[in-house]
Amino acid sequence: MFDKILIANRGEIALRVHRACKEMGISTVAVHSEADSGAMWVRLADESVCIGPAPAAKSYLNVPSIIAAAEITGAQAIHPGYGFLSENARFAEIVEAHGFTFIGPKPEHIKLMGDKITAKQAVKAAGIPVVPGSDGAVASEEEALTAARAIGFPVLIKAAAGGGGRGMKVARSEDDLVEAVQTARAEAKAAFGDDAVYLERYLSTPRHIELQVIADAFGNVCHLGERDCSLQRRHQKVLEEAPSPVIDAAARAKIGKVVVEAVRAIGYLGVGTVEFLYENGEFFFIEMNTRLQVEHPVTEAITDIDLVREQIRIAAGLPLSFTQDEVIFEGHAIECRINAENARTFAPSPGLVTDFHAPGGLGVRLDSALYAGYTIPPYYDSLVGKLIVHGRDRAECIARMNRCLNEMVVAGIDTNIALFQDLLANPDIVRGDYNIHWLENWMKGQSA
Ligand code: ADP
Repeated sequence: MFDKILIANRGEIALRVHRACKEMGISTVAVHSEADSGAMWVRLADESVCIGPAPAAKSYLNVPSIIAAAEITGAQAIHPGYGFLSENARFAEIVEAHGFTFIGPKPEHIKLMGDKITAKQAVKAAGIPVVPGSDGAVASEEEALTAARAIGFPVLIKAAAGGGGRGMKVARSEDDLVEAVQTARAEAKAAFGDDAVYLERYLSTPRHIELQVIADAFGNVCHLGERDCSLQRRHQKVLEEAPSPVIDAAARAKIGKVVVEAVRAIGYLGVGTVEFLYENGEFFFIEMNTRLQVEHPVTEAITDIDLVREQIRIAAGLPLSFTQDEVIFEGHAIECRINAENARTFAPSPGLVTDFHAPGGLGVRLDSALYAGYTIPPYYDSLVGKLIVHGRDRAECIARMNRCLNEMVVAGIDTNIALFQDLLANPDIVRGDYNIHWLENWMKGQSA
């Protein structure tokens, strides 16, 4: 096992990884930008290294600085968290080339899944059902039109290199298609430096359901059930729950088996998430994320498995600490992504947190690096905390989340806590009756 791990990330996820390390008796090295020197995860880490100025490109994405930090502190492994360098195959290669262990999948799998076109082809070949669409990238507008006619309108134009909902455009008819392809291409080029796009059937009422998988180097592959992440704004998740209100044990076991077999066939290592859209009882693969997800705690809550601990064990060459039969799903969990942003306008709200009170009690977990007196810098993502509750069933979970949202105090800045209070009071949400378009439709009603 490693003695020392460098955590190449910031905020709540840096703290999350630190916590797993401490429980395993591993020393931690935090890296931070000049804007984050007083942050909680930096203070709690055993050692810390400043890796550059505030902009992420000069610090959290600065590979030479991060490698140098690992060298001077004598860390043996690097945990990338999520975002930043976590799905950068080149980074994983550089880490390994310098004699450190990358706590994540093999570079070849990061690369394979990082391109959504090759990812779709690979999982389809391994037996996973995919969203019907163009077979690969569309080279021209004529090719896009031919593909769209074969798929049937509406179609979704997606960036091969996509992420964070960028480079995605809907075309409802042939008239929209050329413009949608051009816009998606331009967005993809600007965001990812790659303008390859492909087409998919645009599903009108799907849920976003994703399977958590985990594989060790000994051929053991397990699934840890699903998460329902259908509450989204601009294709970004807002609230997640496990299990999904619409998946029963038989459906879970069936898709779980398909996914586990595919993951084994691909030779995948570490934790991963296979994302699907689910409509009329059918699963359609959209992408695989080759890292820990923001919403991993809902899975941890219902399985009682520490995913970061397992990641570290796998990277150290140890086998999974459980078998599929030992994965027992208990109760229900919900996560609310607490953002420093206005609950109505979604305008970011960085600044000084003047007062802070964390909710607590049975079945409550808050993953956050916030404290009273902390200044949230304006340079990064607005996520400042994840409030996760676990209950015996969904109803208990909703009541508990409501209670926690009422208790939580983050003064001095705006947060989206009020949004969650509204959502959890809505009859559709209480019934579990929502799809990926629900939140945006509801917001239109609110602003009318
Ligand atoms: P990203 O990597 O940018 O997050 P994904 O492929 O994971 O992109 O899709 C993000 C979200 O976009 C999905 O959860 C879903 O809400 C929506 N989406 C993606 N593909 C489709 C589709 N074919 N039809 C309808 N919505 C889709």
